[in-house]
Amino acid sequence: MIPVIALVGRPNVGKSTMFNRLTRSRDAIVANYAGLTRDRKYGEGKIGDQRFMLVDTGGISGEEEGIDTLMAQQSLQAIDEADVVLFMVSSRDGLTAADHIIAKQLRQRGKKTYLVANKVDGMDPDMAVMPFYELGLGEVFATTATHGRGVKSMMESVLAELPASEEDPAEPEATGIKMAIVGRPNVGKSTLVNRMLGEDRVVVYDLPGTTRDSVYIHYERFDKPYTIIDTAGIRRRKNVSLTVEKFSIVKTLQAIDDANVVILVIDASEGVVEQDLHLMGTIIDAGRALVVALNKWDGLDEGHKQYVKNEIDRRLRFIDFANIHYISALHGTGVGNLYKSIEQAYQSATDKLSTSFLTQVLQDAVAEHQPPMINGRRIKLRYAHAGGSNPPIIVIHGNQTAKVPAHYVRYLEKTFRRALNLRGTPVRIEFKSSD
Ligand code: GDP
Ligand code: GDP
Repeated sequence: MIPVIALVGRPNVGKSTMFNRLTRSRDAIVANYAGLTRDRKYGEGKIGDQRFMLVDTGGISGEEEGIDTLMAQQSLQAIDEADVVLFMVSSRDGLTAADHIIAKQLRQRGKKTYLVANKVDGMDPDMAVMPFYELGLGEVFATTATHGRGVKSMMESVLAELPASEEDPAEPEATGIKMAIVGRPNVGKSTLVNRMLGEDRVVVYDLPGTTRDSVYIHYERFDKPYTIIDTAGIRRRKNVSLTVEKFSIVKTLQAIDDANVVILVIDASEGVVEQDLHLMGTIIDAGRALVVALNKWDGLDEGHKQYVKNEIDRRLRFIDFANIHYISALHGTGVGNLYKSIEQAYQSATDKLSTSFLTQVLQDAVAEHQPPMINGRRIKLRYAHAGGSNPPIIVIHGNQTAKVPAHYVRYLEKTFRRALNLRGTPVRIEFKSSD
């Protein structure tokens, strides 16, 4: 499973700057989806061949002990579940009382911690790190998150001690489509999973397919195999009730990464909230196929239903590639219909795309709308081939491809989507230039 790194530190030391730098490779993709929240808390990064997930735990002030806010609780839980912690401090400010308190908390939690002294720009890095040795957390790495100085070598030290993650989620063999059912606490994930597994025609296997954290539930439905990645110990839970503490960001991220198709559950009675959008950002970053389930559709009056539908039109435009289902996990309404979208999303995400067909689509698209001129020279797009699946990657070769404007990329994406009949999966367009 993909390793998870938690970013910790008091406010203003440079955590979000570091986060953006380390997950920047994905930013360009996310930028293509207008409306997606920019203030992200989890993201995927890659250094060399090593992939990792990064969780910005938000500013923990060091004074959470006793404060039972959900935010602090989830930050601390993310720390416990992450593989390692990057504890950031600011060289500008020197060692502060809050740093001491956070260090103490981290030591108590026994988590492998790397101490990062940020904002060393304009300072002698060797001097800048000195005061922080007092924290007793071993080597202090000097970084400038704003310019990236020291970041790569710090990350190489961190990643060298982590288990390597495998590339690409495995092709389904006997396990069928791997599904992650994700959503914030209490939206009805456990109810949905129990409903899916409790259907007539479903045969659940108790294979020993357990991994470190999540449980992989294998089952068959109409003789077709599927696997649900159970992030919340759903099957071990006897009574489905308020279980906020069962929600795990880290397991959710890993499940998204390992799944073929993600089912994002949203509580229709509460509408679309910030945390739903964060999760969507992560799903898109990971390139996963997506089906959205608006749950608790029972018991809503017509006015509220209309409100939720408007809300979705407004806020979920950037995932208009995904099918949306209105369901009641509690009563089972609409649950069986999810499978049609799951199958379709999976097919779209994994279909083999031939070079000749992709090139034909590209040439037709270019004939219909030429790419713009750059400094008096027209951008040339010559041929296309598949560069990967789940998500499908379409690699386009041509000249001056770095200059292709965003709106033209969107036009190409839309055209490929339509021609290839892709539904339920993000698509990535990459360019290779011969000049
Ligand atoms: P967070 O609250 O810990 O997430 O901190 P931010 O990433 O929002 O950074 C707080 C401020 O410090 C911003 O104005 C950043 O531009 C600035 N900052 C972050 N990293 C550096 C750095 O390496 N050097 C300098 N000089 N400023 C930085
Ligand atoms: P999880 O934390 O996402 O796993 O959510 P649970 O499955 O534990 O459900 C949280 C609460 O919502 C429970 O009280 C469920 O009975 C309730 N719930 C789940 N699905 C539905 C639904 O479709 N309709 C209604 N009205 N309540 C539901």
